[in-house]
Amino acid sequence: MLTIAIATCLLIVLLQFQGVDAKESDPTLPPLQIHPLPPSLAQWQNSANAGDYFARIQSTNAGSLVWSEFPIKVYLDRPNNPQDISASDRRFIQWVKAVEEAIQEWTVYLPIVEIPQAELADIVIKREKPPLGVQIDPESGKVERFRARSAQTRYEFYIREDNPPVLLHRMSVAIDPGLSEQSIRSATRHELGHALGIWGHSQAQTDVMYYSQVRTPPAISPRDINTLIKVYQQPTRLGFSVTSNQ
Ligand SMILES: [Zn+2]
Repeated sequence: MLTIAIATCLLIVLLQFQGVDAKESDPTLPPLQIHPLPPSLAQWQNSANAGDYFARIQSTNAGSLVWSEFPIKVYLDRPNNPQDISASDRRFIQWVKAVEEAIQEWTVYLPIVEIPQAELADIVIKREKPPLGVQIDPESGKVERFRARSAQTRYEFYIREDNPPVLLHRMSVAIDPGLSEQSIRSATRHELGHALGIWGHSQAQTDVMYYSQVRTPPAISPRDINTLIKVYQQPTRLGFSVTSNQ
């Protein structure tokens, strides 16, 4: 049986700056600035002149959702006892393998390393059904509750108490355990695109960031990477120092 997960993937802002207003004039937040392009992206040659879908990428209160400290630290769920060969653990091991393969595909473009502590990770990938989400229809203003069918990515902002403190973000990805191995791989590939900064969707089925899953999932395309490069060339508040109001 071929199950095609028609997954309208959700993009969710988990938290706004808690108690901190994100207006341009607010002196407590770092001003919008541009980080140097990561060398792994700078070296990428766009010979195909394939174009991009940057116009469809959403900005946030913090500007572009770029990473500025490398390698990017990723945590993913793993079975407690990998030696266990029960059927459910075999399914879990398959899930881990498919997620690892998708991570590997992105490491060509940005350095990513897996770490064993979720609380220290930039990106946390959970083996779970996406939680119920809330979406506000931009036209009617109505609030709708619904669940993404297979995968979801959320972000939140936090302040790391360095001296001076730094504004950062973290990404949470949920990948449904019930998917086929191929769908786990393609869903993770897509969600990692969001988690790495592509906060929006392509309208072309040949891009990983197409808004819906397709029968034959595409590989990361030149248009995906052209878009990613543009995202990393945009101003952001993330990775910059929060200055005191005094
Ligand atoms: Zn998506």
